[in-house]
Amino acid sequence: MNKYKLLTPGPLTTTETVKEAMLTDHCTWDDDYKAITQSIRKKLIKIANVSEENYTAVLLQGSGTYGVESVLTSSVGSGKVLLITNGAYGKRMVQICEYAGISYLEYNVEYAEIPSSEMVEEILNSNGDITHIAMVHCETTSGILNNIESIAYTAKAYNKTFIVDAMSSFGGFEIPVEESGIDFLISSANKCIQGVPGFTFVIAKRDSLEKTKGNCHSLSLDLYAQFEEMEKDGKWRFTSPTHTVLAFAKALDELEEEGGVKAREKRYTENNHRLTENMQALGFKTYVAREYQSPIITSFLYPENKNFDFKEMYDYIKENGYAIYPGKVTDIDTFRIGNIGEIYLEDIERITEIFKNFLALKNTGGNIR
Ligand SMILES: *Cc1c(COP(=O)(O)O)cnc(C)c1O
Repeated sequence: MNKYKLLTPGPLTTTETVKEAMLTDHCTWDDDYKAITQSIRKKLIKIANVSEENYTAVLLQGSGTYGVESVLTSSVGSGKVLLITNGAYGKRMVQICEYAGISYLEYNVEYAEIPSSEMVEEILNSNGDITHIAMVHCETTSGILNNIESIAYTAKAYNKTFIVDAMSSFGGFEIPVEESGIDFLISSANKCIQGVPGFTFVIAKRDSLEKTKGNCHSLSLDLYAQFEEMEKDGKWRFTSPTHTVLAFAKALDELEEEGGVKAREKRYTENNHRLTENMQALGFKTYVAREYQSPIITSFLYPENKNFDFKEMYDYIKENGYAIYPGKVTDIDTFRIGNIGEIYLEDIERITEIFKNFLALKNTGGNIR
């Protein structure tokens, strides 16, 4: 099998050194191991730019969805959550609430549009029973970057608990968590921190976390129970993904070495801008308007050429060393290219060349194999 780099939004391409960190077996109750967990929690607090006094970090086994489900099932209780959706990950929160029997109201926005805080105010004014608001930061479905700050402001003004799925943006984009008064922010190991899959984490406001005690009807997803155990000495409830944890600790060191979130955001943004310019020069159009585009991932429309076949293009690109992503937008045909992970401008130039060669072969009717 040929090796290829991932231009996908998690799992993503990690460094050799992050992968090497997994070559050690650790037992879960060992003091050294527990200290690694505690140090990860401390570093996450630092990356989130929040004070340890007001916030804490809770790690939980599973992929990102487990974190979102844990927060929703642990925090909403007998209240009602306003779910703001403009993509598949917002819709997943709806699904979680349906499964768990959590009361919710959906404010559905077009996938290429961002929610309006005025509309949120209107909804809150006419629905006094809403206690929580949840939304996605970067909707990885399209690559749109939602305006969490304006909604956070409204949430605060109306005294609602504010939950943000910042899965694909945390660590790669600066988020004013404490300033905005975000109560729960969820991300996972295999996104912008550039670790490997295996756990999710929640940056939680301590006050708000305290209120979740006893709410959750799932044992393994109980955020407070997980926190309570972990807070003692860094021990996870149940078996933790030890190798993933070691890789994550290394990935955090490397984020620091790179210059922190600011530097990483700069690299991703440069990747994104160069990619968009290059693809536009080849005739591709973006799905999301430039002012809403995140530096994380970009959706491109299928070319108008009727002979275009995504699978054929995907295979050609993969043979040449990269994996891109199919689209996830429902109303229009798109494909996606991620800018996150160990990806640099030379990769962007390389992928552009591959697209160019593919298009040339298609236009001359050549055999692409
Ligand atoms: C990746 C991602 C998730 C979680 O997906 P998993 O497959 O469960 O890891 C949730 N929300 C967003 C915005 C994401 O990008």
